[in-house]
Amino acid sequence: MPNLHLANLIDGRLQAPIHGAWLDVHEPATGAAFAHCPDSDPADVDAAVAAASRAAAGWASTPIEERARLLSRLADLIAARLEEFAALESRDSGKPLSLARRLDIPRAISNLRHFAAAIMTWGSESHAMETGATGSGAINYTLRQPLGVVGCISPWNLPLYLLTWKIAPALAAGNTVVAKPSEVTPCTAALLGELSIAAGFPPGVLNIVHGPGPTAGQAIVEHPAVKAISFTGSTATGTRIASAAAPQFKKVSLELGGKNPAIVFADADLGDANMDTIVRSGFANQGEICLCGSRVLVQRSIYATFRERYLARVQALRVGDPNDADSDLGALVSRVHCAKVLGCIDQARADGGRVLCGGTALSLPGRCAGGWFVAPTVIEGLPSAAPTNQQEIFGPVVSLIPFEDEDEALAIANDSKYGLAASLWTQDLSRAHRLAGRLEFGIVWINCWLLRDLRTPFGGARQSGLGREGGSEALHFFTEAKNICIRY
Ligand code: NDP
Repeated sequence: MPNLHLANLIDGRLQAPIHGAWLDVHEPATGAAFAHCPDSDPADVDAAVAAASRAAAGWASTPIEERARLLSRLADLIAARLEEFAALESRDSGKPLSLARRLDIPRAISNLRHFAAAIMTWGSESHAMETGATGSGAINYTLRQPLGVVGCISPWNLPLYLLTWKIAPALAAGNTVVAKPSEVTPCTAALLGELSIAAGFPPGVLNIVHGPGPTAGQAIVEHPAVKAISFTGSTATGTRIASAAAPQFKKVSLELGGKNPAIVFADADLGDANMDTIVRSGFANQGEICLCGSRVLVQRSIYATFRERYLARVQALRVGDPNDADSDLGALVSRVHCAKVLGCIDQARADGGRVLCGGTALSLPGRCAGGWFVAPTVIEGLPSAAPTNQQEIFGPVVSLIPFEDEDEALAIANDSKYGLAASLWTQDLSRAHRLAGRLEFGIVWINCWLLRDLRTPFGGARQSGLGREGGSEALHFFTEAKNICIRY
């Protein structure tokens, strides 16, 4: 029986869903339900939006020092309970505890600290004009004012990391927030809600409503009092959100799917550290990161030797209980997602792909016997147009694709409806710059992967999204620019 009961945070109070409906939350490593979360509906969203609307004017006029202090205080409270957060994130999502401890929770803390600092130094523009020979002129200055109530909707793969990536800039810029984490992984968001009360945020400034996307999420998107939606999730849901927001001319920021290439040239430094990073870029978090390099493009002259070394490393990855310190991969997030990933592998086989390793579900002994584990899988022999190389699988599945030269590498890399991130492995600096300019992706990493500076623009091209997050891009999104022109 689930023993953890999560609540919505509305108007500074933890509240049960108005209509009393609850959802089971499962532990992917065991398959067992361990928590209940509110199955919120539009009535809960209405209450949250009403609370956020009441709080909006007060929060917008709160000095930035106070906003920054509260964000930093929240970061400190999470840091003081890092172990508890990491254990909850791992239990809820199936990811290794070591990863939640090393990546997810520290990054959530950094997100809050980053935007607490950023808002303190953020300025707006002024433009002086000459209007004639008489010495008269004008000065323009730009106010960047908060939007009011904004909606933040986040996915299950990096639950607290991506939720804080949105709420931190939204709150720093002076907006009040109605957030909806994925109902698949609601636990750390619920704990964050509790800590926001302890941190001293005024009631209604941050509201967290749990529940399914099509009901609770859609109600946030459609609510006329919600001025903007910051969404991270799949391209299919992003399309629905964009259509629902368009008639109201709502601002939307969409961070969507990816099918990212890692492009390895014969002249790359393929020492152990870089090989480990290339493998990690495919399999970190069970491949459930939008930035994972799931298409590994390898120059034909080194293809055979690269494949041998790559496979040896992938086969050495340990899939196990997320609580074990030596597990490299844990469980996939849900039974449905696990079935989807296995279905994609079956399709690769049916299309003539050769499964070089993995390719099956794994049964683990003991407490994890009912868990949703998939062996790290490497496939070759499929053309770029094959579904395996076009669809986002979002699991521990990588496809190897040989190429002859720079032009072919570029053509294969860009042959995708997505355009989130590419990584490029070469020691030829001219080639690196040349290709970086021509790769149609929002992010290009050269000789690295997932190296993140929170000030940089983050987001995708084409069907990977609309708009950019990070640094001043996020603060721009969460504010309305108003130009004021004074003639003298
Ligand atoms: P989904 O699109 O299914 O869900 C994302 C969020 O949207 C969840 O909170 C979901 O709720 C909610 N949602 C679903 N339907 C609606 C709707 N009609 N209106 C409003 N909200 C809705 O994505 P996943 O959770 O499956 O996450 C995986 C996807 O996220 C992958 O495609 C991945 O690439 C992408 N992603 C993109 C990133 C980026 O920065 N570009 C980063 C990380 C992931 P619920 O789950 O509760 O139903």
